[in-house]
Amino acid sequence: MDETTYAADCSKCFGLCCTALSFERSEQFGHDKMAGAPCQYLQADFRCRIHERLDALGYGGCDAFDCLGAGPRASAAFAAENWRRDTAVARRLYARFSQLLLLQEMRQALNTAERLDIPVELHVKRLALLGQVGAEADSGADDVTRSGQAVLNEAKAFLKGLASVLEG
Ligand code: SF4
Repeated sequence: MDETTYAADCSKCFGLCCTALSFERSEQFGHDKMAGAPCQYLQADFRCRIHERLDALGYGGCDAFDCLGAGPRASAAFAAENWRRDTAVARRLYARFSQLLLLQEMRQALNTAERLDIPVELHVKRLALLGQVGAEADSGADDVTRSGQAVLNEAKAFLKGLASVLEG
């Protein structure tokens, strides 16, 4: 697995975490923001106007966030689509971005599980799931996929099962 697999390269992203996701005013975020609405500090070039002062201005949650490469993947898949003017396409972009977040998180979890002292057949299953999750994340799909949801469900059940193996 090369180091770019989980790279959150904001220069190749439409500022998706700053638009697609919601947050509430708290110690981590300075104001309320609804999902699908651009942050008030997001510029037209998709850069953050207060990026250098996030912590100082009470936006530590933005600083701590890591999309694990979901943003650049979703942005690349929709680069040729008119999501800026068509709200239906924008909704599809944000939904796919959210699915990619889950896929990349699961991919990382399955990868990290290589350190676990579990039977070899479970590592074989882990690697098979890792391959499927990776293929879903790298597919370039421009919509939420059923196959992506299916493999996420399967991988979630697998990791839950690992917990009971480790406890036993
Ligand atoms: S979604 Fe990821 S790549 Fe895009 S702006 Fe947010 S952290 Fe950066």
